[in-house]
Amino acid sequence: MTLTKPRFQKAKREAEQLLEKYEIANSPVPVERIAKREGARIQFGPLDKELSGMFFVKDGVPTIGVNSLHHPNRQRFSLAHELGHMMLHADIIKGIHVDKGHAILQRAALAAEGTDPMEIEANQFAANLLVPDFLLSSILGDDYTISDDEEELEALSKKFKVSTVMIQLRLVKWMDSKRR
Ligand SMILES: [Zn+2]
Repeated sequence: MTLTKPRFQKAKREAEQLLEKYEIANSPVPVERIAKREGARIQFGPLDKELSGMFFVKDGVPTIGVNSLHHPNRQRFSLAHELGHMMLHADIIKGIHVDKGHAILQRAALAAEGTDPMEIEANQFAANLLVPDFLLSSILGDDYTISDDEEELEALSKKFKVSTVMIQLRLVKWMDSKRR
């Protein structure tokens, strides 16, 4: 099976179902605990600096590797991204899947989130796992309007333990989803 286009809704739903399953009600989302409860073996270790993480199945055990040299927030994203591959692509991925830098983390790439459907889905999964709509709603309320207030972005970044770029991206998507 190969993916010809990303399944945005499926990736988002898969993340939300995990949060529901483990009754996650607060930020930061315990991504490592969730991955372990889902049966992943997680290995943190130093990798080449342009590598963020990897996913493979060894002796039937899904295994996630994370580059421990990166910022803790980035490691959380890498872990969530690889968990996305595990939840969505375990039967597609053959051998070792290695991830280089994530387009989603780069400001310039916000408009074009990469082109490989599998990577887009893993990013979509990770973003919705780490910063889900329902936590944004409960923290910011339904009357929230987007501002460019740096302090607010910093505060949310600390609260969710993700980059401010990720917060900005999720705020826009969250507001979009409310308008529909
Ligand atoms: Zn990937």
